[in-house]
Amino acid sequence: MNANAKGPARTDPPVTIDLEKCTGCGACVTACPVDVLRLDTAGSGKAIVAYPRDCCFCILCQDDCPTGALAVDRNATNPRQRSIYDILGIELPDWAR
Ligand code: SF4
Ligand code: SF4
Repeated sequence: MNANAKGPARTDPPVTIDLEKCTGCGACVTACPVDVLRLDTAGSGKAIVAYPRDCCFCILCQDDCPTGALAVDRNATNPRQRSIYDILGIELPDWAR
């Protein structure tokens, strides 16, 4: 693992997708503000993490997934895995705990 001034490299991928629960609805793809997620249109049709390093840990994908298939690997103590909630000191909503 590399380390730099911002702390240890963040976990990669930042989002875990339970393919048993994923229906391929695309809600997470629409929700992601930085285009991290895509549907695997050439394969399973389910969600994939296409651009993991762009994730800003906003948790919007997890919030919008209707089946609970997504889990964002947020870590408030790692500067590279903090969400906007951690940065702004906002209490996390219940669904994100
Ligand atoms: S929102 Fe959930 S069920 Fe829909 S594609 Fe994304 S992970 Fe799959
Ligand atoms: S946590 Fe936010 S930035 Fe990361 S994949 Fe989900 S919606 Fe995109």
